[in-house]
Amino acid sequence: MTEVFENPVQDALALLARLGVSRLALEGGDLPAHTPITGEEICRVASVSPAEASVRIGGAHAAFLAWRRLPAPRRGELVRLFGEELRTAKADLGRLVTLEAGKVLSEGLGEVQEMIDICDFAVGLSRQLYGLTLATERPDHRMMETWHPLGVVGVISAFNFPVAVWSWNAALALVCGNAVAWKPSEKTPLTALAVQALFERAAARFGPEAPEGLCVLLQGGADIGALLVDDPRVPLVSATGSTAMGRKVAPRLAARFARALLELGGNNAAIVAPSADLELAVRAVAFSAMGTAGQRCTTLRRLFVHETRYDEVLSRLKAVYARVRVGDPREEGVLVGPLIDPAAGEAMAAALAEAERAGGRIHGGGPLDRPGVFVRPALVEMPGQAEVVLRETFAPILYVMRYRDLAGAIAAQNAAPQGLSSSIFTRDLQEAERFLSAEGSDCGIANVNIGPSGAEIGGAFGGEKETGGGRESGSDSWKAYMRRATNTINYGSALPLAQGVSFEV
Ligand code: NAD
Repeated sequence: MTEVFENPVQDALALLARLGVSRLALEGGDLPAHTPITGEEICRVASVSPAEASVRIGGAHAAFLAWRRLPAPRRGELVRLFGEELRTAKADLGRLVTLEAGKVLSEGLGEVQEMIDICDFAVGLSRQLYGLTLATERPDHRMMETWHPLGVVGVISAFNFPVAVWSWNAALALVCGNAVAWKPSEKTPLTALAVQALFERAAARFGPEAPEGLCVLLQGGADIGALLVDDPRVPLVSATGSTAMGRKVAPRLAARFARALLELGGNNAAIVAPSADLELAVRAVAFSAMGTAGQRCTTLRRLFVHETRYDEVLSRLKAVYARVRVGDPREEGVLVGPLIDPAAGEAMAAALAEAERAGGRIHGGGPLDRPGVFVRPALVEMPGQAEVVLRETFAPILYVMRYRDLAGAIAAQNAAPQGLSSSIFTRDLQEAERFLSAEGSDCGIANVNIGPSGAEIGGAFGGEKETGGGRESGSDSWKAYMRRATNTINYGSALPLAQGVSFEV
């Protein structure tokens, strides 16, 4: 039985020690780490200087040169060992996620489970990095494609999935033969230190074939992220965060022809159709809109309810919103923890005031009188999609609107500038298929009878429009971390040219 402290600061420090983070890494730094549960500072970690960041990226590049020579299934073995470390450390790391990001314990543990799942996926993938054999138009020729590693993959991550997002990228990048340089959110430096310690333990077990510098950590703010974005030794940057961040990062990557994998803001919607199973729909809406205190990129923010079911859905939702427990995310029965910081609370209050001015009727949404930033989730009945509805406010606000016909509801859903996740609740096959068709949802994720939040790792994750267009995690997302070479081999003694071109000298 491990010791659990009531005080979140003591609790976090004890967990960090157990996870193998050196006490020295937590002393005398310039980057304060807080727990949103009380708002207290836990400790200060050192952010990396620009010079040191450059040295670490250089080290990662040197590691890549060696790592790419190892057969992919052998690279998979390192990821398998890392997955084992995560299994052993799941309870501690999950709890640390709760303490640093404020999500309830089952979600903290779920985030670590997601890391374990992507490791398993990547291990299998390490034996399946297939290329195609292609039909060639020339006799005695063979044409094929080969996939090669890229180099150092830069990962910039957001506070709300402080560890899983890195693992989605790193597990795939590593089996694909790359090194990884990680700039975690400055709001969650401690979980990053813990993950780095676990990775180093796995690398030590793997032995000298895992070169030093294979995964490096660059703690710091946006300025350190920008160094990664501008470094010519980094051919791919996978950046997760707000659309505002993506707007700065994307043109800088484009300017040096580097690859960008962007996972940006969402403004996700669900449609409740006349035939919906309301029991199921309301449960799904509750989790999607209130889970993680509305701080998921896939959080449900806009709900379109058919006018014949509107009153019933609203009254059921009001009851659920009134009884949901908000509080210390470590407590059994609490489903909604704190917002990450005071700025998030202010953004929520400002959005609610704006919604009210635009004709919204607000139910709930007030702050709790306790340390930390705790709010009751808000339901807002809106007459239409005012500007505030079309913006992502990273807080538990659900805008509820009526609709009359499905085409109109789909058009309204697609009117948001973001295109991450979407759902329809219906038992009508024609409606479900219409929603999933080319003239249906324009999002990267479209679900039927499931909320927009809580994706599995097996599918490709990401969204369109202002969400940035990136795809990571499952399916064939691994291709983003490799470069494709087309190879043509002539095993004859003639030199036929393609397209029948003749060139006799
Ligand atoms: P944020 O944009 O404030 O920060 C994200 C990361 O980007 C941080 O590490 C930050 O230091 C870095 N950064 C900021 N400006 C930068 C710059 N100019 N150059 C390089 N790096 C820079 O986001 P946040 O508040 O941590 O997270 C919430 C946002 O992230 C929401 O908009 C949410 O929807 C989005 N998000 C998206 C996904 C997704 O998969 N689509 C997943 C999680 C979060």
